[in-house]
Amino acid sequence: MTNYLYQEQNWQSQMSDLITDPKELLDILKLSSDQLLSGAILASQTFKLRVPRAFAEKIEVGNPLDPLLLQVLPHHLELEDFEGFVTDPLGEEDANQQPGVLHKYKSRFLLTLTGACAVHCRYCFRRHFPYQENLPKNDDWVNIKNYIESKPDINEVILSGGDPLTLSNRKLQLWIERLSSIEQLKYLRIHTRVPVVIPSRVDEEFISILKNSRLRVILVIHSNHASELDEFTCSKLSELVHNKVTVLNQAVLLKGVNDSAEILTHLSYKLFDTGVIPYYLHVLDKVKGAHHFDLDTNEINRIYTELLANLPGYLVPKLVREIAGEKNKTPLFGTETF
Ligand code: SF4
Repeated sequence: MTNYLYQEQNWQSQMSDLITDPKELLDILKLSSDQLLSGAILASQTFKLRVPRAFAEKIEVGNPLDPLLLQVLPHHLELEDFEGFVTDPLGEEDANQQPGVLHKYKSRFLLTLTGACAVHCRYCFRRHFPYQENLPKNDDWVNIKNYIESKPDINEVILSGGDPLTLSNRKLQLWIERLSSIEQLKYLRIHTRVPVVIPSRVDEEFISILKNSRLRVILVIHSNHASELDEFTCSKLSELVHNKVTVLNQAVLLKGVNDSAEILTHLSYKLFDTGVIPYYLHVLDKVKGAHHFDLDTNEINRIYTELLANLPGYLVPKLVREIAGEKNKTPLFGTETF
């Protein structure tokens, strides 16, 4: 079994000791290519490198094509322009009603409490999002509450980001208590990649906050490859499940990372064995800088057809694309859109 140094280390110290220098990351992984390094240095000037050490430990040393490394290593192709790849592919700046509130769907809205993430995923559709102008301040709470109460259809709030689990337990608890005080809300969803990249973030205090909330909690993690789900990570996810948190996974279909039915099949089984339900498989959002992860429609079709044949229906994540202005995510397989 791999000997991990950082996995169980306190999450706050991990957050303050992220790898941000491409050279350090490549040195740790014993990768000495000048081409990789110069591309990474250039591309990290527009979207910084950010990798938790606990995640770097899961990357295979000496393998420049490791699927976990490809998700986080800046690449010179990020700097090239490709037709159709834009800074705000989902039109989120238009859906931004007031600081912190992104209301795109009828019964639920996104509350972004932070622009920070523990890891910078190179394909992220929010890599250009102007978070600093859109974060709620403490006294914006009254406006947010009024906004929710003016829309009786809203019954669910989604904490998204950035990544809400980069916030302290104290701050999360404050917001969860505020939301719980609004009677019409029933569900609290938290979208986060932190349990996958710094699993020790799932600490006792956090579990207790979720467990004691009046709201039914759904935690949606983001894992793209079974190699991200080592024993310690799985034990933390199972703890959440055992404490009545519904845990779902969304993945993004990425060229070079998980573009095979075999890899995705393995991911679904690994998740399920941990108590996590495979939820969505997103087609890449066409964000500027992520073109090198894109797959063509025929390839996506081929992979998904094979996945359907490999897995029982309950383990097949829904293949979807988010289209700016649509009232829900658009299912792709077997539809005209696809
Ligand atoms: S953790 Fe999520 S929001 Fe943050 S960079 Fe990765 S995909 Fe984007």
